[in-house]
Amino acid sequence: MITLGLLEKNTFLEAVNKKSGANVLECYQCGKCVSTCPVSSYMDFPPREIMQMIKLGLKEESYMANSMWFCLTCSACSGRCPREIDIPAVMEAIRHLAIEENYRSENKKVKDIRKFHDIFLDMIKRYGRNYELRMMAEFNIRTRNLFKDMHLAPKALLKGKIPIGHESTKSAKAIQRMFKLAGKLEKEKR
Ligand code: SF4
Ligand code: SF4
Repeated sequence: MITLGLLEKNTFLEAVNKKSGANVLECYQCGKCVSTCPVSSYMDFPPREIMQMIKLGLKEESYMANSMWFCLTCSACSGRCPREIDIPAVMEAIRHLAIEENYRSENKKVKDIRKFHDIFLDMIKRYGRNYELRMMAEFNIRTRNLFKDMHLAPKALLKGKIPIGHESTKSAKAIQRMFKLAGKLEKEKR
């Protein structure tokens, strides 16, 4: 449903602003973010359009777009934004809201990126660090692409680029507590 910000209450805009700490209404559509973004050509909607969609309350369209999943959080866009909008924070806010509200894109690339995110975060939660070999194996299994990049493994292993064994970091327990606390704070904020 389209909710025009000035005519009706735009709860999507409010939610994105609250989560990101940005004010999307400040965007005046100059497009500098698009020309700076290194991945805008891969996005369904580049950052400028995403800003406009939020202003129009186009929640589902924003959630289903691949834009926030392709965002690298590099901040190149916000560095050039004349309104000083924290665009990567806005992208991240949409990502989090889509997860919280259980929106799932059918786009294969988006699905794979989400799987990569989940596996990476799970590694950090469990070991306090990334464990590359396991991460690659889990990703290949979960994306049903068992032999993806396998030809690179022997070279990388021989050069010691991928450690075979792994240990948790000394701070793994502290990191686990941090995740718990962050989860609790997120729930309280909702
Ligand atoms: S650079 Fe800033 S003001 Fe310009 S379109 Fe992008 S977000 Fe909007
Ligand atoms: S932070 Fe995201 S949207 Fe901004 S330039 Fe980088 S990839 Fe593009």
